[in-house]
Amino acid sequence: MLSNQYTIAEIKQILNAGGAIVKDYPINTLLTDSRRISNPAGALFFALSGRRNGHEFIASAYAAGVRNFVVRQGSEIKAPEANFLMVDDVLAALQTLAAYHRSRFDLEVIGITGSNGKTIVKEWLYQLMAPDKNIVRNPKSYNSQIGVPLSVWLINEKNDLGIFEAGISTIGEMDKLEAILKPSVGVLTHMGPAHDEGFESREQKVREKLKLFKNCRLLVYNYEQSLGFEDDITAKERFTWSTEFKQADLYVFSGTAISKNYYLRAIYKEREIECLIPFLDEASIENATLCWATMLAMGYSPIDTDDRIEHLSAVSMRLELKNGINDCSVIDDSYNSDLQSLEIALNFLTQQNQHHKKTVILSDIYQSGLQAGVLYRQVADLIKLKQVDKFIGVGEALLNHKDYFEVAEKFFYPDTPAMLQHLRTLNFRDETILIKGSRSFEFELISRVLVQKAHETILEINLNALLNNLNFYRSKLKKGTKVMAMVKAFSYGSGTFEVANILEYNNVDYLAVAYIDEGVALRNTGISLPIMILNPEASAFDKLTEFKLEPVIYSFGLFDDYIKYAQEKNVLNYPIHIKIDTGMHRLGFENADVEMLCDLLEENRYVHVQSIFSHLVASEDQQHDEFTKSQIERFEKAYKQIEKTLGYKVIKHLSNTSGIIRWPQAHYDMVRLGIGLYGIDMGMETPDTGLQPIASLKTSIAQVKKVQAGETISYSRSGSLAKDGKIATVRIGYADGYLRAFGNGVGRMLVKGQLVPTVGNITMDMCMIDVTGIDVTEGDEVIIFNEEQRINELANQIGTIPYEILTNVSQRVKRVYFYE
Ligand SMILES: *Cc1c(COP(=O)(O)O)cnc(C)c1O
Repeated sequence: MLSNQYTIAEIKQILNAGGAIVKDYPINTLLTDSRRISNPAGALFFALSGRRNGHEFIASAYAAGVRNFVVRQGSEIKAPEANFLMVDDVLAALQTLAAYHRSRFDLEVIGITGSNGKTIVKEWLYQLMAPDKNIVRNPKSYNSQIGVPLSVWLINEKNDLGIFEAGISTIGEMDKLEAILKPSVGVLTHMGPAHDEGFESREQKVREKLKLFKNCRLLVYNYEQSLGFEDDITAKERFTWSTEFKQADLYVFSGTAISKNYYLRAIYKEREIECLIPFLDEASIENATLCWATMLAMGYSPIDTDDRIEHLSAVSMRLELKNGINDCSVIDDSYNSDLQSLEIALNFLTQQNQHHKKTVILSDIYQSGLQAGVLYRQVADLIKLKQVDKFIGVGEALLNHKDYFEVAEKFFYPDTPAMLQHLRTLNFRDETILIKGSRSFEFELISRVLVQKAHETILEINLNALLNNLNFYRSKLKKGTKVMAMVKAFSYGSGTFEVANILEYNNVDYLAVAYIDEGVALRNTGISLPIMILNPEASAFDKLTEFKLEPVIYSFGLFDDYIKYAQEKNVLNYPIHIKIDTGMHRLGFENADVEMLCDLLEENRYVHVQSIFSHLVASEDQQHDEFTKSQIERFEKAYKQIEKTLGYKVIKHLSNTSGIIRWPQAHYDMVRLGIGLYGIDMGMETPDTGLQPIASLKTSIAQVKKVQAGETISYSRSGSLAKDGKIATVRIGYADGYLRAFGNGVGRMLVKGQLVPTVGNITMDMCMIDVTGIDVTEGDEVIIFNEEQRINELANQIGTIPYEILTNVSQRVKRVYFYE
């Protein structure tokens, strides 16, 4: 029996829950998301009420085979074979169950919190202590009020150490996490100076975080950062580190960069000790120093510690989706493997609809705490459940359990070189491939072969940030207001199917694109959401109906063309959208046309009006608020008249991004979210609060040159340096979307954290920047825009709008997507 197995009757008792048990079940899996169901027979579903009410998802979980639920008191649910445990607060019940589970084990638990670096420190401590401990830890960064209980649930009797991070967003949350984790050792990571949105002040935030450590016997922290909070630290044993204060337990008095490493010297127990960190950036050095201190505080010898830290490897917490060879897409997760992160990666794989075929390359899993037979049974079940078409197992353990796997195509190899040798016979073509391996299998060798050589200029798209932005705008809407996501022009340059895919998965209601071809492309990648076509061409109406795309009808001419087509093909009741021109004077029926339009619509059996909409011309701009109001009035007048004629309800929508925040009275039944999804809102008073930029445009240095004062640079001898200096030629030019207007010092790029100007004219594929005084070499990364140098600033530099900067990034620039 697994240690985290309870019967539903036991759980009912632990939770002190109401409801009747129809049939007793063994439970070993906790679920909170009906879209991610694994092991349904042994699962308990918590119907959390978040943005959407978890109770709405019970039906789909039930359909997927889940038979045990924790729900709010008084919920009425029809599911005859299921057990419903009734509680007052579903989240609190999840936390109670986790706390109970935790209390059954007396292993050492390290609790980590702070503002930055929690996940890195957790993963590094895991790497450092894994040689002599059997460790349980949070999958990825599952550190929230929901994530922590789910993580703690993973503790089993084989574990002798838990390493858990805890994150909070407001006051009152840490006590709850402390009660679940019960850490005996505390580790405080970097605390940023700012206070986050959920706190009144920095003091309040720090005090709240320190509550995690209230019952710790030992606390490890940075001496400087604790100043002023001494009274809040209750741990009996304290271990401090510092680069400034000699009285710290670990006083780091010197740090030097040596090639790609950072060499630290420190005083510890009145002796000099040293440590080599295999990273150079400030954050990594601070995080590694904290790990150093933690190891020493927990009794590891300085020599052992140094040895292990030298071998730390970068923590890749994100799943990267890249273009592969032979029209494949590759999800690269080649650095770690355990059952929990496998499940997360498989969920991401199943969200990808751009190829029919789904493939998994997996290595043996180490350190699961499970017997091989049990572990690979679970792996095989997961692979089957996620409907993987092709499975490639690498490692002796997988090879030994190959009979467990029920997959259409399966291949097993004892090690990575053997698999690489057979790569050609595996015939990868038009499939989505997940690469997931334990570190020692060096799966990066596989990903290097399967990922297309990227042109070195890439546009990185952060899909988490996209979701953050979607949810930010959703939080501004009344319940039930729909969201149409504008994904025209390759989703404002961000790439169509990857973006559409994640929007569909996250229950956006509608998509809109400009042209029929764009809609067809979305359908071809498996998108099934309704799609509105803003600008349908009569010549492609066949495609329109074949692919179930919904046209906007904006003029009598177009209406006429469409009806003729529908008559000829006998297409009845087809969904269309009516566009009203309330002041933009681009496309649409004007108010004066509405009466005639109503005549045409009356009892028209060829069309069904799905929605009526108009477009605000200056929703972001206070100066034009009176005009916006007049647009709203004209819109209301038009839709009322049309709805009356039709005799049925249609969806009304008017707001674009800026309208969502500035014009709540104009949300109607749906809003059309465009640039806000991509992290920009020109209508917000303090720019972009709550939004995250989703795109970073990066390139690299092709060559570095010394240039003397007066020598000229680029075409037409346009540039020069005032003093002798150094320039770098970078791999981006106007053909990539870095417009000529950025030339001659107008544009700036980020190199090693510094903003440097362009020199001379921008050329087609390249341009030059002034890197005088900066230590750069060929191949170094150069950033055009990211969360630091924002798209808004680039737009200001050349007097345009962010929309143009985003959509200008040309299609030859590779898009790389990541999702954490
Ligand atoms: C592009 C577009 C939008 C989205 O506008 P944003 O300002 O990017 O939010 C909304 N409606 C229509 C008709 C559009 O063409």
